[in-house]
Amino acid sequence: MAIIEKSLQAIRERITHAALNSGRMVASVRLLAVSKTWPSQALREAYAAGQAAFGESYLQEALEKVAALADLPLEWHFIGPIQSNKTRPIAENFAWVHSVDRLKIAERLAQARPETLPPLNICLQVNISGEDSKSGVAPEEAKILAHSIVGLPHLKLRGLMAIPRPTADIAEQRAQFRVLRKLFDQLNAEGLGLDTLSMGMSDDMEAAILEGATIVRVGSAIFGKRENPISN
Ligand SMILES: *Cc1c(COP(=O)(O)O)cnc(C)c1O
Repeated sequence: MAIIEKSLQAIRERITHAALNSGRMVASVRLLAVSKTWPSQALREAYAAGQAAFGESYLQEALEKVAALADLPLEWHFIGPIQSNKTRPIAENFAWVHSVDRLKIAERLAQARPETLPPLNICLQVNISGEDSKSGVAPEEAKILAHSIVGLPHLKLRGLMAIPRPTADIAEQRAQFRVLRKLFDQLNAEGLGLDTLSMGMSDDMEAAILEGATIVRVGSAIFGKRENPISN
């Protein structure tokens, strides 16, 4: 069996175990394959092994793959930092954006989303680690932003995304994910109707699923270690 197919199978098993350990339905956790830095052929292989949702962080690279793989019914998620002058190609080519962290970006995405496409699914990226270097809206500002975005046309606010501070300590991983989960519960108590918690990567997906992740974003555990890892 090809390596990517094998890795995908192993990841699906990890998701299944984590969901069962959490008393959750396996189908309540979706796998987003993070394919940044990997060539189109790797995505074709993953698709042949049953994976149709892909996450990309770098727009130019992503657009090349969207074009090269136009023959496949893929679902594209943008998960990287967004420059305000790049919102149009994002609005035109992706089904989801996980990394919205300011109103201006959301407004531009709403304006540029073609009428012929379904609403663009949006997650707010929240900076739960408090590190200045990290993108994301501060948790205390996320509520105001969420309430502003929910009224915009052509967008559907689905939930929250976070990239926690890396740590091997499972309790600390869980504590960070819990911050996002609490914010999610508070926003839903305010009537926002969110259904998506985008959290958990190759090294912390079990902790994320225990804390309620509905999308895990997994790259290196599927495709291998990236040559020039650029974190964001
Ligand atoms: C690269 C990236 C991932 C995947 O990370 P891995 O550790 O390779 O699984 C997930 N989310 C975001 C936002 C990323 O940039």
